[in-house]
Amino acid sequence: MKDFRYLPGVSTLVLDTEACTGCGLCTIVCPHGVLAMAEKRVEIVDYDGCMECGACAQNCPTGAVGVTPGVGCAAAIINSWIKGGKPACC
Ligand code: SF4
Ligand code: SF4
Repeated sequence: MKDFRYLPGVSTLVLDTEACTGCGLCTIVCPHGVLAMAEKRVEIVDYDGCMECGACAQNCPTGAVGVTPGVGCAAAIINSWIKGGKPACC
């Protein structure tokens, strides 16, 4: 999954560090290592690695992380797995 990249600078991923409790769930479910723990809170360490799958937002208990899921690269990657070939977004 590390090979897949989104278009640079277009992800809808947002993080409210004040609302983050540091539970770490988002770092566990993120398939691209976009989020990482730092000083008991999470931070975005690879913004352009985000494919907007929505797993982090769905699992965050405080709503500290948000994204508009179901668009762009995630759909392209799934289609490439089904049909073969390189995803159009990466
Ligand atoms: S939307 Fe998906 S890829 Fe992006 S940070 Fe959240 S879990 Fe990771
Ligand atoms: S799931 Fe939410 S509260 Fe937990 S570390 Fe991630 S952003 Fe912070």
